[in-house]
Amino acid sequence: MNSSEFDLIIVGGGIAGLTAANRAAQLGAKPLLLEKGTDEHYLCNTRYTGGTLHVCMADIMAGEAAHLAAIEKLCDNARPDLARAMAGNAERAVRWLQAEGCKFIKASASPHHRWVLAPPGRKGPGLDWEGRAGDVLLRRLGANLEERGCRLMRGARVLNPIMEEGRCVGVVAKVGSETTEFRAKAVILADGGFQAAPDLLREHITPRPEKVHQRNAGSGTGDGLRFAMEAGAATVGMDKFYGHLLSLDALSNERLWPYPYLDAVVTAGVLVNPEGHRFTDEGRGGVHVANSVAGLEDPHASHVVFDQTIWEGAGRHGLIPCNPHIPKEGGTLHEAQSLGELAGLIGMPAANLEETVARFNAAVDAETIGELTPPRCTVKGEPVAIRTAPFYAMPVCAGITYTMGGIAIDGNARVLQTDDTPIEGLYAAGTTTGGLEGGSGAGYVGGLSKSTVTALLAAEHAAG
Ligand SMILES: Cc1cc2nc3c(=O)[nH]c(=O)nc-3n(C[C@H](O)[C@H](O)[C@H](O)COP(=O)(O)OP(=O)(O)OC[C@H]3O[C@@H](n4cnc5c(N)ncnc54)[C@H](O)[C@@H]3O)c2cc1C
Repeated sequence: MNSSEFDLIIVGGGIAGLTAANRAAQLGAKPLLLEKGTDEHYLCNTRYTGGTLHVCMADIMAGEAAHLAAIEKLCDNARPDLARAMAGNAERAVRWLQAEGCKFIKASASPHHRWVLAPPGRKGPGLDWEGRAGDVLLRRLGANLEERGCRLMRGARVLNPIMEEGRCVGVVAKVGSETTEFRAKAVILADGGFQAAPDLLREHITPRPEKVHQRNAGSGTGDGLRFAMEAGAATVGMDKFYGHLLSLDALSNERLWPYPYLDAVVTAGVLVNPEGHRFTDEGRGGVHVANSVAGLEDPHASHVVFDQTIWEGAGRHGLIPCNPHIPKEGGTLHEAQSLGELAGLIGMPAANLEETVARFNAAVDAETIGELTPPRCTVKGEPVAIRTAPFYAMPVCAGITYTMGGIAIDGNARVLQTDDTPIEGLYAAGTTTGGLEGGSGAGYVGGLSKSTVTALLAAEHAAG
């Protein structure tokens, strides 16, 4: 293959890479997509996705102004140009995918479930991707790319940039046992983040990466980030990830991940450490709480505590609720008639747990939860007093789906240096990028929407 025949090299064949490749080909460019997976149905996060296209857990068709307000509220570190680009192109991303032949359904009455890839990626507990949401989308976009006369080369792991006079002019990749250079006018990194790179997780996210559940496909090993840094890129927002709070048993029980997750019960109840004390703001929701748990010295030592009212209320929320699925699938659910007895079951000082719950209940009654230590908000849901026996406790772990931070990009998906100027010829798209999601509350905008929008922007700027 003569590598000088390409205009654009795209690294990674998830939704971001395939969107960028197809969009570039539509615009008359000749892209080459390099994917490290060797299997025809290589695993990536897109393959496993639940398939909901949303912006900040709201209807993706809600409009630019609503999206921008939501992003600004949730993500206190978002770059204004990226936030505007995301808000202004979200609807277009769905329309573009539709025009490519991707089908959507409405998965529930919730506004954020109005645009879900068909057939939906969540059928029940455990992982079930074949012939579903992301798998169907990848096959469709892969076939479209082939029809456009372009190539997706599997088994090609991109390692290093080729830089000439400050410009990225290609990549060095391992193809089988060979090291090969591929040259082009521009490169788009779409390798999916660093959630499966223990060294980077330890540096940025958790002291104990081996104790965080890999709620992902294992393909995001930070190669794009290392590549971009070698080319001189800045990184941004590296300390937060998108994920959920899972039963601790998910580490050994395949039926307990990626669903069900425990976000709804933790947002209603309390999360306590081995001493029986709260340590995070549960009201910020499961993504924030999962980040807090991952950051602990021992990410396996916390329990969510709640009562019968929460178990029958919030416990039944969601498409695959933890009531009844956690106990039904073999997850631990401690149950007792009093909080003291519950504390005994989980080896916690009874007086401390009773005091924590008493303070929480009093604050809920007096509507003073903001004065608790740590303070409690209602961003993701209302707290519910814990009074009605039986009382319950579940051991939890943090499930990491993708890293929210990464390669700094601007509103055209151009990779930025520390002085905020772009590196010529280098773009990044999808979950390898940073600067939109995260911030102090681990604000979640949306994996699929972010990937599709940034990929369209990168392809359009690079091909233009
Ligand atoms: C269980 C689960 C459920 C989810 N549900 C939702 C949902 O409902 N809604 C939502 O918005 N988001 C959801 N997400 C997140 C969403 O799926 C991802 O954010 C999105 O698919 C990421 O796309 P991507 O193209 O950036 O990365 P990926 O899909 O991970 O693709 C990256 C590709 O790059 C390849 N690659 C990596 N390194 C190299 C290299 N050095 N050289 C060549 N190739 C390389 C990888 O093999 C991979 O194929 C979910 C994720 C999971 C795991």
